[in-house]
Amino acid sequence: MIRCDLLIVGAGPAGLFATYYAGMRGLDVVLVDSLAHLGGQVAALYPEKLIYDIAGMPAVKGRDLISGLVEQARSAQPQIMLGEECATIDDQSDGSVVVTTSTGTEIGCGAVLITGGIGRFTPRPLPAVDAYTGDGIHRVVAPAEEYVGEDVVVVGGGDSAVDWANMLVDSANTVTLVHRRARFTAHESSVDELRTSGCRIITDAEILEITGAPSVRRVLVKAADQDGIETVPASIVIPALGHIASLGPLLDWGLTIKGRQIEVGTDMATGRSRVYAAGDITDYPGKVRLMVVGFGEAATAVNNIAVVLRPDEDLFPGHSSELPRMLATESRG
Ligand SMILES: Cc1cc2nc3c(=O)[nH]c(=O)nc-3n(C[C@H](O)[C@H](O)[C@H](O)COP(=O)(O)OP(=O)(O)OC[C@H]3O[C@@H](n4cnc5c(N)ncnc54)[C@H](O)[C@@H]3O)c2cc1C
Repeated sequence: MIRCDLLIVGAGPAGLFATYYAGMRGLDVVLVDSLAHLGGQVAALYPEKLIYDIAGMPAVKGRDLISGLVEQARSAQPQIMLGEECATIDDQSDGSVVVTTSTGTEIGCGAVLITGGIGRFTPRPLPAVDAYTGDGIHRVVAPAEEYVGEDVVVVGGGDSAVDWANMLVDSANTVTLVHRRARFTAHESSVDELRTSGCRIITDAEILEITGAPSVRRVLVKAADQDGIETVPASIVIPALGHIASLGPLLDWGLTIKGRQIEVGTDMATGRSRVYAAGDITDYPGKVRLMVVGFGEAATAVNNIAVVLRPDEDLFPGHSSELPRMLATESRG
């Protein structure tokens, strides 16, 4: 069994900041995420977008925000487990908790902080993409420079699909957007931009097959208004059909859940002993679902957890500016 002071469930912005903060308070952390990468929604859904409402950063790219949060979190020397879902929770007689992951790993901890956001999220299925086993399918989009000279096919008609197509049209060799309906659900202004961008738009159409080995070479498209099947040259396919989100096993943890959120008090306690929550997943009167709010909640949760685990400590951690640099990390070796 892995042992730690604090298990953090979810490595999005709130979980990453909570990890750093727990290190600052001298807690040993295990950080688990069901995705294969750190950064939650920001890394998975909009790494290239600029974010304008992070305190002290007039504008920051999603990718850069996550890289700063990861660097900060790593200073707490957490044990990071990716591609594993926290599945079940059991109280122990000494007040501690054991959480078991989807692969059967047991994590014994003094407390759990759930920073699970919108829950585990998986890309909406697209049979032709799911059936293709070669390289060249980008579910998380890379920086625009990496698409120079590529023939890109973007699939979808929502904000993500249209934004990616607009973003890549200047760097890629060609960009083709395939959407199964005639109307787009993306913002009207983005669709207008797309229509004049030089991107080829095929609507009322579906992707039948992706071919090529070891990497994508072409996409077979059937448009409703055409008899035949069109072969579109492609080196990269970006399926941007959105995600399906679910709290999954967290629903069975005995928490008070309203819709997709966990009710918490002002100390971020869930009502279940030793289980706290922060970030998008929490709910209370007046809740605003933004990252800056999640960062504050993470700090509140960790400070309250620190006192539960070490009752002789103060709730107020002191000012970080007055602490020796990463005091907590240094003292743990
Ligand atoms: C397109 C877009 C643009 C946005 N722009 C902004 C913006 O400009 N400013 C802003 O403040 N916010 C913005 N947001 C919202 C912002 O991304 C979220 O508020 C933020 O990501 C929430 O962070 P979080 O850490 O609470 O959760 P998330 O980022 O959702 O991370 C939660 C993590 O928990 C994991 N997880 C869930 N359940 C489990 C489990 N049982 N076991 C293991 N892991 C689990 C998930 O895999 C996920 O990685 C935007 C969102 C989108 C989609």
